[in-house]
Amino acid sequence: MPDEPPIRAVIAPVTPLQQNCTIVWCAKTRKAAVIDPGGEVERILKAASDHGVAVDKIWITHGHLDHAGGTEALRRATGAEVIGPHRDDAFWIDQITADGGRWGMPEARSFTPDRWLADGDRVQLGETEFEVYHCPGHTPGHVVFFHRQARFAQVGDVLFRNSIGRTDFPRGNHAQLIQAITGKLWPLGEDVRFVPGHGPMSTFGAERKTNPFVSDAALQFA
Ligand SMILES: [Zn+2]
Ligand SMILES: [Zn+2]
Repeated sequence: MPDEPPIRAVIAPVTPLQQNCTIVWCAKTRKAAVIDPGGEVERILKAASDHGVAVDKIWITHGHLDHAGGTEALRRATGAEVIGPHRDDAFWIDQITADGGRWGMPEARSFTPDRWLADGDRVQLGETEFEVYHCPGHTPGHVVFFHRQARFAQVGDVLFRNSIGRTDFPRGNHAQLIQAITGKLWPLGEDVRFVPGHGPMSTFGAERKTNPFVSDAALQFA
């Protein structure tokens, strides 16, 4: 009999920016982590309850409003521990409340994580765990969550199908972003499926073939 997959995941796009909030859970314990609760916390809670899972952790890829604006509300509703991103995104998190007022998300709140993350950290979820990779460039404190056995990653705004994250924000850095994608994500394997911060899922292998910014062919002539 084949092994049960150790994790399951469902995507719930939130905010006017259709950010891919992802609920992942340990199949054995049904303990769930909500990755990037940008807003619409009621919808996130309903999605979790529809799947019969309990929100145990909140994981943040980076401090942008559309990814982290609902963190404080979700923490208050669930008591879940807030983990990530890397400390270098503190300046982004500190301006979430102000940015929310400016960009039509008045409920968004700044917060303090219970734990900052660093490259090489591991985060526990029920009886399974994810690996953490620090991938700066879009923001200086951006992290990626990777489940090795399930061949699954949540990469936030580092990489998209056929595109990469913007680097024109304060402390953005294009060269760092390319380095993070090719130096940290590609070695995880071409078969890895990833949820980007916005838009459809893809695999690292597909992006190495066709992504105009980071395909093997594009970088060869860069
Ligand atoms: Zn972003
Ligand atoms: Zn985003």
